[in-house]
Amino acid sequence: MKLDDIGPQIEDLLGWAPSSWVSVNDWAERMHPDDQKWVVDFCVSQSKSGTDHEADYRALTKDGNYVWIRDVVHVARDENGEVEALIGFMFDISERKETEQKLLDLQKELEELSFKDGLTGVSNRRMLDSVLEQEWVRARREQQPLSLLLIDIDFFKQFNDFYGHMQGDDCLIKVAQVLSEAATRSRDFFARFGGEEFVMVLPETDAEAAQKIAQRCQQFIFKQQIPHAESAVSQILTISIGSGTVIPSHKDELRDFVDRIDRALYQAKQAGRNRIQAA
Ligand code: GH3
Ligand code: MG
Ligand code: MG
Repeated sequence: MKLDDIGPQIEDLLGWAPSSWVSVNDWAERMHPDDQKWVVDFCVSQSKSGTDHEADYRALTKDGNYVWIRDVVHVARDENGEVEALIGFMFDISERKETEQKLLDLQKELEELSFKDGLTGVSNRRMLDSVLEQEWVRARREQQPLSLLLIDIDFFKQFNDFYGHMQGDDCLIKVAQVLSEAATRSRDFFARFGGEEFVMVLPETDAEAAQKIAQRCQQFIFKQQIPHAESAVSQILTISIGSGTVIPSHKDELRDFVDRIDRALYQAKQAGRNRIQAA
């Protein structure tokens, strides 16, 4: 097969003189090696079946660079419907490709800057830090109790090992969704702390009320009856919770408060898991 009627605009675009395009091979070889196979296969098969088509690929320029182009091919037929010629146009789409890449990069950056956890869709650690700080200051100013729950899935490493990481991810999504429904007041705040750990911030909530919400978290998870064959405490997925309540004074530090609850969670683990431990 030969190429004919190579328009002069290709020279402007790629630098190759029209006379240098002789065979289909010239076209195929002036393509990025990663694009070559699918583009040639696709265009040849489309042309053979007489279908108009287009393909985006990186074309080789005479000076050895690649530019993104869109090749648009129209199949011209004679009055009997037989394929008479293929008429192709090449458009420079490098700018659009660059914009696309920039968009992808931006999307990634935004995700990193965002306040939502990418896997579960609930608030992330960044959001938690900001909310907790705000609630701490407010509780201190208004001398109201502030409660915090640290929630950690039991034996989740074994869950992953046994059921696979994908199912582990699905489980985290489910757990996040279920736990986020356990607290209902408008300023109650739920976030993924990281990994298989979650946090509940409960403003204007005393220890007794916090205990109730912690129990509800356990019940909600229990109701899901998520099988966990490798858990040493149960046949189903369970959680451990550290809880704490404080009316902050000016001597108190938020960090110490969180640390105390973290230690309570550790104690709940040590004591056998699937339980709530108050700080
Ligand atoms: P413990 O009962 O003491 O809490 O044990 P554990 O296995 O739950 O805790 P450990 O900290 O040893 O392991 C946590 C596991 O959580 C390890 C890691 O593979 C898993 N994990 C953390 N983040 C993700 C995630 O985004 N997706 C999945 N599938 N697994 C995760
Ligand atoms: Mg953990
Ligand atoms: Mg765990």
